[in-house]
Amino acid sequence: MGFILAIDGPAGAGKSTVSKLAAERLGFALVDTGAIYRCVALLAAERGIDWTADAELGALARSMRIEFELQADLNRVRLFGRDVTDLIRAPEISRAASAVSARPSVREGLLDLQRRLAREVSGGAVLEGRDIGTVVFPEADQKVFLTASPEVRARRRFEELCERGAAVSFDEVLADQLARDREDETRAIAPLKPAPDAVLVDSTGLPAAAVVERIVDLVRHVQRRQS
Ligand code: C5P
Repeated sequence: MGFILAIDGPAGAGKSTVSKLAAERLGFALVDTGAIYRCVALLAAERGIDWTADAELGALARSMRIEFELQADLNRVRLFGRDVTDLIRAPEISRAASAVSARPSVREGLLDLQRRLAREVSGGAVLEGRDIGTVVFPEADQKVFLTASPEVRARRRFEELCERGAAVSFDEVLADQLARDREDETRAIAPLKPAPDAVLVDSTGLPAAAVVERIVDLVRHVQRRQS
């Protein structure tokens, strides 16, 4: 198995940007586990499966075929061969993803897929998520917990949504994000919390490039120790 870099943290901490840049710099594959939960939510919505229907959601999670392809400024997501990169970013899918991710059958059903996607690459993989360092890869070679103040996180999400042409207000985005944070932190199974051996990185007021530099340094240091 190649090098496993776990990057966990709350919504809007800058995980996507930082993970993508770090993967490019290191020549690693990028597994966006949030996108995988979003795919479960999208399929459930399309097939009319209730967010609380554990058995059906679990079966859905276990059946999924997903591929990631890191392109210039985008990590493309294909679900059963269909490009769902944009579809899974809709606000209603964000909420649904948060709801389905609290179901034990879904978390259990996706463990295998997440591990497989990381293991089948030769060089190394960046796994971006909420519980990579605590549950999916407790033995990861390097763990980072990335965070930022709630206002900064909501501002980033708001600007991203505006760029996509979504008609939302900053207050809506902030309220939505605080609700999702609460759900993620208080759920009974795999709640969002840093692994004891994760390096905490606060990106408030830090440009993405500086955060990436810090993470690449951490990885290089471990790689030197391992060789
Ligand atoms: O990171 P992103 O916003 O795309 O994640 C979508 C949702 O999936 C989050 O609200 C979170 O509840 C859930 N998630 C999770 N565990 C992960 C990744 C995402 O519960 N490893």
